[in-house]
Amino acid sequence: MRVLKFGGTSLANPERFSQAAKLIERAHLEEQVAGVLSAPAKITNHLVALSEKAALNQPTDSHFNEAIDIFYNIINGLHAENNKFDLAGTKALVDAEFAQIKDLLEEIRQAGKVSDAVKATIDCRGEKLSIAMMKAWFEARGYSVHIVDPVKQLLAKGGYLESSVEIVESTKRVDAASIAKDKVVLMAGFTAGNENGELVLLGRNGSDYSAACLAACLGASVCEIWTDVDGVYTCDPRLVPDARLLPSLSYREAMELSYFGAKVIHPRTIGPLLPKQIPCVIKNTGNSSAPGSIIDGHVKSEGLQVKGITNLDNVAMFNVSGPGMQGMVGMAARVFSAMSKAGISVILITQSSSEYSISFCVPVKSADAAKAILEQELKAHDLEPIEVAKDLSIISVVGDGMKQAKGIAARFFSALAQANISLVAIAQGSSERSISAVVAQNKAIEAVKATHQALFNNKKVVD
Ligand code: ADP
Ligand code: ASP
Ligand code: MG
Repeated sequence: MRVLKFGGTSLANPERFSQAAKLIERAHLEEQVAGVLSAPAKITNHLVALSEKAALNQPTDSHFNEAIDIFYNIINGLHAENNKFDLAGTKALVDAEFAQIKDLLEEIRQAGKVSDAVKATIDCRGEKLSIAMMKAWFEARGYSVHIVDPVKQLLAKGGYLESSVEIVESTKRVDAASIAKDKVVLMAGFTAGNENGELVLLGRNGSDYSAACLAACLGASVCEIWTDVDGVYTCDPRLVPDARLLPSLSYREAMELSYFGAKVIHPRTIGPLLPKQIPCVIKNTGNSSAPGSIIDGHVKSEGLQVKGITNLDNVAMFNVSGPGMQGMVGMAARVFSAMSKAGISVILITQSSSEYSISFCVPVKSADAAKAILEQELKAHDLEPIEVAKDLSIISVVGDGMKQAKGIAARFFSALAQANISLVAIAQGSSERSISAVVAQNKAIEAVKATHQALFNNKKVVD
């Protein structure tokens, strides 16, 4: 069994959608496959905007109509390609979903707010309709399709908008469904179900993670992530045109790169694949014959000590300091357990050797909550007012080979200094697989370019 996941850009219009369908079909003719789909590009953003704007009683018609147009355009195109494609039936499914959304928006407007549970049921509809269109495409060609319902089959724990899948229980459920060998298997990404059977989401960009979870549950031979670039590059090819394609990466490198912001895979994608040593291959839908990048348990340097440079934006940094910090056993533990109890993820930590201060980064969206919690938790201690700096980015340099290499940190920091970018903080991952620098967000792109130039010895990057 192979799992093939297609992202939004690979499903954005009829031509790309049909290209993705043909890739699933081609793979199916070799061995059984499961296709995991995102929503067509832009759809999730429209859906997110719909509930948020309705809660503020702002107009939503343009989002509503543009989203429907995207689906109708794909459906019309797929029907034009093959007149056996169920045009009326598929359009009726789109209409039914959007009629439900309309009712929900009316309720949100009346209430003046939207709960996470309702938001989740709106935001996931793009994936659901991608599956409906793909099912119709395969049925028009005489194939029989098995739909995996992620709400029933993938058990997840966590909030409505960002849950994590329990692989052991989900594997039992997927096994129990005993999928017939001749069927084309399809599953909507981004979605799972909690223990009450309610729909939950896996976080933005989460369809990669859905595919990895399904691959783990099915014991697949590979999890293929089909996207709009030829594979994983040394840095975002949209930022640095000279970025180099990486033929292979280790699981750890891919985890670290995605954790620190490489959008090409969702940071949780590798988690379910690693224990079963299922390789993850990144491929380009628009250039399917290119070999792509393989992520697996082998550590191959490809002659590179550093495999990639990333930027993670929208970060806030906290600095907790004061005489009360010194020699106080367990102060760091208190700070971080307060964050963890509040469900706030701490991205990066630095501590000065004097124990006089602790600095750490959290997503900027959690900064106000984090500040309130810390003030409450630490009020009995003799501390300076908690400092919070917003509008920061974390620039990271990642590679398994960095452990053995000398001088990478020096080259990284001197590249930033030469570009006149000040460092707010620095940190090295405990695995010595990454070094990070915190910089002002408006310098992030420049920082990535300068670092790439220094570490990969490229031609001067021309803006
Ligand atoms: P999809 O819609 O297929 O999920 P995404 O937009 O989520 O695609 O991810 C693909 C994008 O990730 C690429 O277009 C590229 O701009 C971006 N990206 C960021 N960092 C990297 C990297 N190191 N290598 C490749 N792509 C990257
Ligand atoms: N459609 C969702 C999003 O845009 C999930 C995904 O594409 O992976 O975040
Ligand atoms: Mg993505």
